[in-house]
Amino acid sequence: MLIHTIDEVREKVKEWKKQGFTVGLVPTMGALHNGHLSLIKKSVEKCDKTVVSVFVNPIQFCPGEDLEKYPRTLDADEKLCNDAGVDIIFAPSPKEMYGDGHILSNDFLTYVIPPFFYVNKLCGKSRVGHFDGVCTVVNKLFNIVQPDFAFFGEKDRQQLIILKKMVKDLNIPVRIIPCPIVREENGLALSSRNKYLSDEDKQHALALSKILFNIKACYNNGIKDVSELSETAYSYLNNHHSLEYLEFRDADDLEEKKTADDNTIVFIALKIGNVRLIDNIALR
Ligand code: AMP
Repeated sequence: MLIHTIDEVREKVKEWKKQGFTVGLVPTMGALHNGHLSLIKKSVEKCDKTVVSVFVNPIQFCPGEDLEKYPRTLDADEKLCNDAGVDIIFAPSPKEMYGDGHILSNDFLTYVIPPFFYVNKLCGKSRVGHFDGVCTVVNKLFNIVQPDFAFFGEKDRQQLIILKKMVKDLNIPVRIIPCPIVREENGLALSSRNKYLSDEDKQHALALSKILFNIKACYNNGIKDVSELSETAYSYLNNHHSLEYLEFRDADDLEEKKTADDNTIVFIALKIGNVRLIDNIALR
């Protein structure tokens, strides 16, 4: 069932809770692919009722980013959700979520601001304010849907770590369920932004997963020194790539690692033309 208003979702969830059903929430920005579907399937399996939100959240886009051209495919998303057994697709308008006129001005909105230490690195460094927008919208979705479980992909690992921290710090009564990264057979992590890539770009995009898989293989072969592991990346890069970061950080608190261990995540972001892609791998 497709619902556009907060009141209607609330009404439905209230009925479910009265009947003792557990509720799962899968927050998305739509343009759904098999990565999203894996989260949805997990929720449908685990919970009595599943809500998938489809909302291109304006306040998590920075000036100059792809807010306007971000792919919007609600009809296809609705079909995919219905086929997967989703109970509610919640697709609010920006006005429904943020009211009139205030959408892009933090002067008129109460924000949830994650700790500086978690956002001053990796994607937060180039996307200033991005995680404020993410935490704010996810917090709103939690308040609207009041789910027992919420499903997030490890594809956006920094986001996942920050949201876990938010839930812990603010005592939000929800359990976050992390879901593994879904990749194409060639290794490319699925992403709605892959739609921006030409066939040639897609070949260049394989560098991300190749670099990560190779680092993990080297780690498993006994190399633990982070500068040595980082060095191995360069043979995969060419002049089509602009490397934004390749960093080794702790899986729980994002502290930088000089020596890799089993609790290390390797994070990479690189641009191919105007398209910015991210990926990561756990050295476990
Ligand atoms: P998005 O629509 O990009 O905001 O993503 C919605 C959710 O799907 C987030 O929790 C993402 O981490 C997750 N997700 C996106 N791509 C993948 C993927 N390839 N594998 C697993 N989860 C994913």
